[in-house]
Amino acid sequence: MNTTAEQLRVLDALLPEWLEDSRKEAAFGEVASYIPELSKAPHSALGIHILDKNGSSASAGDCSLSFTLQSISKVFTLILALMDNGEEEVFRRVGMEPTGDNFNSMLKLELVRPGIPFNPLINAGAITVTSLIRGDSPAEKSKRILQFFRSLAGGVELQVNEDVYRSELETGNLNRSIAYLLVENGVLGGSVEDVLSVYFRHCSIECTCRDLARMALVLASDGIDPFSGGRLIPRRYVQVAKTFMITCGMYNASGEFAIKAGLPAKSGVSGGILTLVPGSLGIGVIGPALNAKGNSSAGVHLLERLSRKMDWSLF
Ligand code: GLU
Repeated sequence: MNTTAEQLRVLDALLPEWLEDSRKEAAFGEVASYIPELSKAPHSALGIHILDKNGSSASAGDCSLSFTLQSISKVFTLILALMDNGEEEVFRRVGMEPTGDNFNSMLKLELVRPGIPFNPLINAGAITVTSLIRGDSPAEKSKRILQFFRSLAGGVELQVNEDVYRSELETGNLNRSIAYLLVENGVLGGSVEDVLSVYFRHCSIECTCRDLARMALVLASDGIDPFSGGRLIPRRYVQVAKTFMITCGMYNASGEFAIKAGLPAKSGVSGGILTLVPGSLGIGVIGPALNAKGNSSAGVHLLERLSRKMDWSLF
């Protein structure tokens, strides 16, 4: 199979059956409930959208379902922080290594010196990165983030889901603890509540699989919007983001996903997964029921099968 358009035609026919097969995996997962509002998501939903640079697409399942980006937003706030501050400044405050700990752990902030977060995709790292986004107020920072995400999604009017935002604001005490430890370690400056409000808001930006695929396609195109031809992200920062997605994007199953699917990916506790085939495809998946590692159980099953069948692995 040569062109992506041919691949997508084949996939459009095959996807519904593969998706229904993967949907069964949802039975082994649980919808996240530590942010109470997230627990309302439909347990067995599964949807996928795949988009190429010419606008051809294939999709199946519950593609119209809206969900919040959650940790998927961390990839793009990292990119914006790099664009605002440059690599040197960002990596003075956050490391480049996987932790092996939970995404919301603060263990290593105390155990390992200097007490900077291990990487930008765990909560400690993402909160730190969020604090580096330029803007005179939390509202301005949030606005810049939303505008940047909208441009990556092709101008779609993405919005913050205020119910999810409030739900996390009210219950996010673990993230509060992390942020205070970061202040203590001299990593974070300013008001903790201000930083967290910006962080919770970007995690609460609502999207569909199609929006994820569109955002992923910009990464697959090395930072260029393939439809307008305009550069949205410097190529170097796309390299940095894709590398973190391989090493830390799928929580503590990043190694396993790299072996089984071989694609840069980022998942979130809403059950979304953003992934891409560099140079050709952007892919968005939603499947709210999460496996023990915190990734969409049906979504991971579907992506691993797809990558194997289509020979997408980079390695
Ligand atoms: N907003 C979530 C949190 O901070 C994001 C977690 C995730 O998706 O991994 O807990």
